[in-house]
Amino acid sequence: MADDFFRYVLPHATQAHHDLIYFPYWRFKGMLFFCGPTGITNRFVDVSHQAIETARFPLSVGVRSQAMKLRFLSADMEGRFLKPRLPFEKIAANFESRFGKALPKPILHQAHIGEALSLIYSPFYIKDKLYDAIIDKPASAQAWEDFNIDDLDGGSPKWHIRFVSTLCPNCGWDLEGQRDSLVILCKNCNSAWYPVGRRLKQLKFARLQEAGENTLYLPFWRIRAEISGIDLRSYADLVRIANLPKAVQKGWEEIPFRFWIPAFKIRPQLFLRLASHITASQPREELIPELPATRIHPSTLPVKEAIESLEIALADFMKPRQKMMERFGNIHIDAQSFTLIFVPFNEEHHEFIQHDYQVAINKNVLAHSKNL
Ligand SMILES: [Zn+2]
Repeated sequence: MADDFFRYVLPHATQAHHDLIYFPYWRFKGMLFFCGPTGITNRFVDVSHQAIETARFPLSVGVRSQAMKLRFLSADMEGRFLKPRLPFEKIAANFESRFGKALPKPILHQAHIGEALSLIYSPFYIKDKLYDAIIDKPASAQAWEDFNIDDLDGGSPKWHIRFVSTLCPNCGWDLEGQRDSLVILCKNCNSAWYPVGRRLKQLKFARLQEAGENTLYLPFWRIRAEISGIDLRSYADLVRIANLPKAVQKGWEEIPFRFWIPAFKIRPQLFLRLASHITASQPREELIPELPATRIHPSTLPVKEAIESLEIALADFMKPRQKMMERFGNIHIDAQSFTLIFVPFNEEHHEFIQHDYQVAINKNVLAHSKNL
């Protein structure tokens, strides 16, 4: 079982001293995309399911994962934390089929993108019945008998607190971590870093030249991939595949094709629109290997998640749809390398606008994307 996920705790409200038992739930949160005959359908989901299969405890945490304030699990928390028994993979397939059920068949491809996996611990205690310690009331009317809770593995939380250096590995300068950002920037030596385990790894980055005033830079993962099952190596190939209303010009066969995927969380529909729109535009102006001096939106979507979205982005810009349907099953995409590119957007009244590629992001939508 992977160990690389966040663990959260729901707060209890009991006054008296009880031996608290924390029951684990897998939580799936993120964007689901389904590619089918009528196009691409998306869902934003935040659902949970028991990580130990038992009829004794509630099946999920319900809306509490969204409605209540979650705390990070820490090593000093009291109580008995039960060990998950069901691997997440099993549950993830379950979630996907649940959300895919109502969609037109066949589903050609599906992807989940975002913070896919975490564990939520919910507090209970046992007297004559099972009690829900969040509301301090019985969780079930059924008497608690014939079941020894000690048969389930558990104990105090063993929580490795990740320590990541805050000094630039290159020049020793204090790194500026933006809130929620996965990428840490050093403005002293002009470098970018991201944590891998307990270490910082250097990241290739660049920015596009800003034009005009009030620039906000939004980060995109530019990804080079090996694509089989379809000819998509160059800008000329893209013009044909996306059926773009332009004639292929000399030299376009030599311009390598790359994906451009948002490196930040945003509503699924907009995420897909930005990905397929900027990818179809293939920005070709000069890349400047410097950090922007103006505002930068935090990078909140790991490159691993961005790579998950490549098929969906391709399916979105392949035209006509009938051709996409016929060929999609044979297409295979293998990401090879990536660079973080800061793309300038101009702040206007209600929106951030990228004039060269004609995309806009509503300011409220961007502000609310913090909660995704
Ligand atoms: Zn530095």
